[in-house]
Amino acid sequence: MIVVMKKSLKDEDIARVKSRIESMGLTAHISRGSERTVIGVVGNLDKDKLSLDPLATLSIDKSVDRVYPVTKPYKLASRENRRENTVVKVKGVEVGGDNFTIIAGPCSVESQEQMMETALGIKKCSAHMLRGGAFKPRTSPYTFQGMGEEGLKLLKEASDATGMPIVTEVMNPKDLDVVLRYADVLQIGARNVQNFSLLKLVGQTDKPVLLKRGMSTTIQEFLMSAEYVMSEGNADVILCERGIRTFETATRSTLDISAVPVLKKETHLPVLIDPSHAAGKRDYVPALSKAAVAAGADGLLVEVHYKPEIAVSDAAQQLNVSEYCELVEDLKKMAQIMGKNLR
Ligand code: PEP
Ligand code: MN
Repeated sequence: MIVVMKKSLKDEDIARVKSRIESMGLTAHISRGSERTVIGVVGNLDKDKLSLDPLATLSIDKSVDRVYPVTKPYKLASRENRRENTVVKVKGVEVGGDNFTIIAGPCSVESQEQMMETALGIKKCSAHMLRGGAFKPRTSPYTFQGMGEEGLKLLKEASDATGMPIVTEVMNPKDLDVVLRYADVLQIGARNVQNFSLLKLVGQTDKPVLLKRGMSTTIQEFLMSAEYVMSEGNADVILCERGIRTFETATRSTLDISAVPVLKKETHLPVLIDPSHAAGKRDYVPALSKAAVAAGADGLLVEVHYKPEIAVSDAAQQLNVSEYCELVEDLKKMAQIMGKNLR
C-alpha cells in the first residue's frame, strides 16, 4: 500500500502516520521527496485479530492526500504470486495449460439408464470428465432436489464404466463426507460461491474444487472466493464462468466472455466456461462454446442428456448426445487454431 502525504506537512504528521501504521503490525518505509513525502506500507494483518482496515484508517488522517493498494487482495490465486499456469490433475485428466478439457453430463442424476447412456455417448466424443448433480440447488423448494447418495452411486457406476472422473456439486457442509466418497472434483455452485464456511471446508480436503462464479459476483470477489479455498491449503481450484445477471432476458444469464481474458491475466488458475447455464437454451450453446475456445478458456462444463426432452431439471438447455458430438467436431478445429489440445 502506498500512502501519499499532503504537500504542507510537519515532522509530527509523518511520525503520527508512521506510528498508526506500526500499531497495525505493519512496517512504514518513508521516502521524502522534494515535492512530496510518500510512505510505503508492507506486511500482513493478523487475520485472527480484530484489526482495522489500514486503507480506511490511513485515508482519514488530515495529513494524508491519498492511499492506494499496490498488490492484489488475492495472493495465492494471483499471477503475481505464480507466473506459470496451474494444471489441475484429476485421475489422469489435466485441466489447464495447453489442454482444452470437457466436463459433460446431465444437469441432475435421474436414473441408471440416463447416467449410463449419457456417459457412454459422450465418452465417444472427447468428454474427459462426467458431471451430474445429486444435490441440486433449485430455485423452488417444490421442485426435484436431487437423488442424494443414490445419485452419487449411479454417477460412480457410469464413471467406472467409462473411466471418466466425477464432477459433482456439494451444497451443504453436512453432505461433504458422503460427496467426498464418490466425487473426484467437488463443484461449488454459483449460489454458494460466497459461502465462506463451505469454501474453507472444501479447502481442507484433497479433492480439486470446481468453483462457479456467482450470478452477481465481480471477478475480484470470484478470485477472493478461490483464495478462501487456497488459503486452507488446497491449491487445485478450477474456475468456471457460467453467466452473470444483467438486464437482458433473451438468455438465462449473460455469458461474461470478457471474464476469460481478465481471469487469464489476473490468475494462474484454469478457467472453464459453462455455456449451458449462461444460455439457458440449447440453441445458443454451440456458439457460446466456440466463443469460449476463441477467448482462450481451458475447457467447458456443458450439460448433455441422453433424452433432454424428459430431463427433470434444465431440460431446455441440455444438448442431446449427437448435438454434443457435432459441437465437439467444431471445437476440435478451433482448439487447434488456439494451440490447445482437444482429443
Ligand atoms: C450446475 O452446474 O449444476 C449448476 C446448478 O450451475 P450453477 O451453480 O452455475 O447455477
Ligand atoms: Mn443445470
